[in-house]
Amino acid sequence: MLPSVDPVASTGFSRRSFFRFAAGASALATAPFLTESHLALAAIPKFSDPNIGIHIDANENPMGPCDAARQAIANIIPRGGRYLFPLEDVPAQIFAKQEGLDPESVIPFAGSSEPLHFTVLAFTSKDKPLVVADPGYEAPMWAAQVSGAPVIKLPLADPKGAASHDIKAMLAASPNPGVIYICNPNNPTGTVTPHEQIEYAVNSAPKDTVILIDEAYIHFCDEPSSLHFVKEGKNVIVLRTFSKIYGMAGIRMGFAIGRPDLLAKIVPLGGQNSLPITAVTAANASLRDEALVPSRKKAIGDTRTETIAWLKSKGYSTTPSVSNCFMLDVGRPGKEVQAALAAKEMFVGRIWPAWPNSLRITVGLPDEMLAFRKAFTEVMSGSTAGLEPAPLPGRLAAHPHTHLS
Ligand code: PLP
Repeated sequence: MLPSVDPVASTGFSRRSFFRFAAGASALATAPFLTESHLALAAIPKFSDPNIGIHIDANENPMGPCDAARQAIANIIPRGGRYLFPLEDVPAQIFAKQEGLDPESVIPFAGSSEPLHFTVLAFTSKDKPLVVADPGYEAPMWAAQVSGAPVIKLPLADPKGAASHDIKAMLAASPNPGVIYICNPNNPTGTVTPHEQIEYAVNSAPKDTVILIDEAYIHFCDEPSSLHFVKEGKNVIVLRTFSKIYGMAGIRMGFAIGRPDLLAKIVPLGGQNSLPITAVTAANASLRDEALVPSRKKAIGDTRTETIAWLKSKGYSTTPSVSNCFMLDVGRPGKEVQAALAAKEMFVGRIWPAWPNSLRITVGLPDEMLAFRKAFTEVMSGSTAGLEPAPLPGRLAAHPHTHLS
């Protein structure tokens, strides 16, 4: 049980302040980094205490850190009075060795939100737009408001099918983009963009454009990683995080992987702050745990497959996710269903304006997903006050199309 604190107040970043930031770009100049947790919190229709109910709303991993990481954290606590600088380099060294990368091309951060934010700040400006897919992870767009860069949103290609990034449209959208952001697999859809398409983007983008490839969810799927572009010296920065498969969202650890000259432009934006030694030691232990990725990939993949199969058997459509989240078309304004589920203390993910009838569902533990099925059945059958049963054809209706903005 967590201490009974108000998590909204304790973040210092309430729903109210979120919307105040949203109201004016000038306020954003001082905005904190917006991570998945801020965005999830802002989207929840009523206050949600992490001790209450089921949270499948922020793409977290309820398994938490692996046993070896927990033990490593416990072991290092007595040394918590020290900075232990040399230890900070170890996760990047282990990772570089495992992936055959030059250690100079891997920089550790407290999660991947910081390097995501810094990359947008460093390489976009009012003359160098940010190009993103829609629906996609919103954090880079918030960062672009700080850099003053125009944001060009391109609908996912084949939204009723593969829902991958429309790479050709993204490349054609601007003659001089600062950053083209590709999240693979994509948040919120959990869908992939074929590697040849990413390769095409890397090789066809203007020479000063940085392709920012966010691999927060890459461990859940069989897709090839884009790390080889870094080895080939391309204008690519790849992001990795320990928040997803490694279950360390609250512990905070991530990497930016790129050519040293590119990384040199983002590092100064974050200063030279120390990393928490608990995060560093947990990352070391996690990287050394060879069973972690395959076993969690299978467990979460099995739960995702069962949940999606059940939803399909009930007439609902979802994106073909290979990740720990998927979009579920509820055939009516997603906000209503989200609110009705929240009233049952079942907290599901937010709605993207481009797909207003879809909700993002994070794949939780098997028991959590069974509870989700029960609550969802009750809500959609209209046994919850205020919601009429949705007609089946509505449930089967296609995702509404997105538009350029
Ligand atoms: N990138 C994507 C696509 C995400 O979904 C998230 C979090 O959900 C992040 C980056 C940031 O994760 P963190 O800062 O916890 O490493």
